[in-house]
Amino acid sequence: MAESSLPFLNLQPAYAASQAAIDAALLRVARSGWFLLGQELVAFEEAYAQSVGAAHCAGVANGLDALTLALRALGVEEGDEVIVPSNTYIATWLAVSQCGATPVPVEPDPLTFNLDPARIEAAITARTRVILPVHLYGLPADMDPIMDIARRNGLKVLDDCAQAHAARYHGRPVGSLADVSAWSFYPGKNLGAMGDGGGVTTDLTTLDEQVRVLRNYGSRRKYHNECKGVNSRLDEIQAAVLAAKLPQLEASTRERRRLARCLLEGLAGVPLQLPVVPEGLESAWHLFVVRHEARDRLQAGLAEHGIGTLIHYPVPPHLQPAYAELGYRAGDFPVAEAMHKQVLSLPLWPGMSESQIDQLIQAVRRCA
Ligand SMILES: *Cc1c(COP(=O)(O)O)cnc(C)c1O
Repeated sequence: MAESSLPFLNLQPAYAASQAAIDAALLRVARSGWFLLGQELVAFEEAYAQSVGAAHCAGVANGLDALTLALRALGVEEGDEVIVPSNTYIATWLAVSQCGATPVPVEPDPLTFNLDPARIEAAITARTRVILPVHLYGLPADMDPIMDIARRNGLKVLDDCAQAHAARYHGRPVGSLADVSAWSFYPGKNLGAMGDGGGVTTDLTTLDEQVRVLRNYGSRRKYHNECKGVNSRLDEIQAAVLAAKLPQLEASTRERRRLARCLLEGLAGVPLQLPVVPEGLESAWHLFVVRHEARDRLQAGLAEHGIGTLIHYPVPPHLQPAYAELGYRAGDFPVAEAMHKQVLSLPLWPGMSESQIDQLIQAVRRCA
């Protein structure tokens, strides 16, 4: 029997779910003749801040800039250290480097894949300024102990929320847990633009103002530059598209949770490590990541069944050529390294049909 192929990701259902609003938004911006720092941006910033329970949101050009400008607004500069997970997308580390500071890796909890609070204090030095947890794959990091460690050590907390739109931690939305939060609206993220986009949310008014100055050439008033800023703006088209999609975010996140439950039930008893969601946490299910001893064989087997998978991520940041300068070697962060050898992301996206979920479950059962 010929199987139809199941792509790792298909963004067309998400467009269809908000098509009338998106089409109207695109046309509205085209006809307005105003493309940067206008009313579409203001409207999205207000709606997004409210949705995450923060006082402010500043739109920026992408998730990497959201992290970088948030760190700069926190005062991070050359010579400083920022605590980051040893297993994350390299953008988390690059943001620290762009400030001239040094990323200091801390190992994750092998079950949740998130920063292990018990290992943080050993990494704090006199130069540490910020702790930067990531809510990896959409699962909230254990923020209460992280905030507690930060308060006791006079540090700030920036959380990388690029994968965790609409996730919740003991009832509180991600985006209302740290001092400041950075978001990506890259097309494949759970709230995705039609191009690059990012945002910084916070309750701290001066920090929000600082990000707004930094994103626009260090300027509050045109042609008056108070610091060396950058050009990193969320343009009117992207802001309008995001505002059009935002009302669907809760429903699409519920759908991700339902699909994840189907996968967890359908794959129970299969010899692989399924994602774990601790009591009180609600994942955004950006990715459904399993661990398997023979990951490459599992991936090849699924490919033969027409099923697209990806590896998030094949090489940890400390072993990337980009970070050769830090002098780390294989074996320095064994938890992260084992994870990168074994993880495999299965397809999970709003719009997947029952028969596609069944096809996926049967194929994994056969190949694992
Ligand atoms: C996507 C992502 C980023 C960067 O976002 P961009 O918009 O692609 O710059 C940062 N951190 C994590 C964890 C991400 O997944």
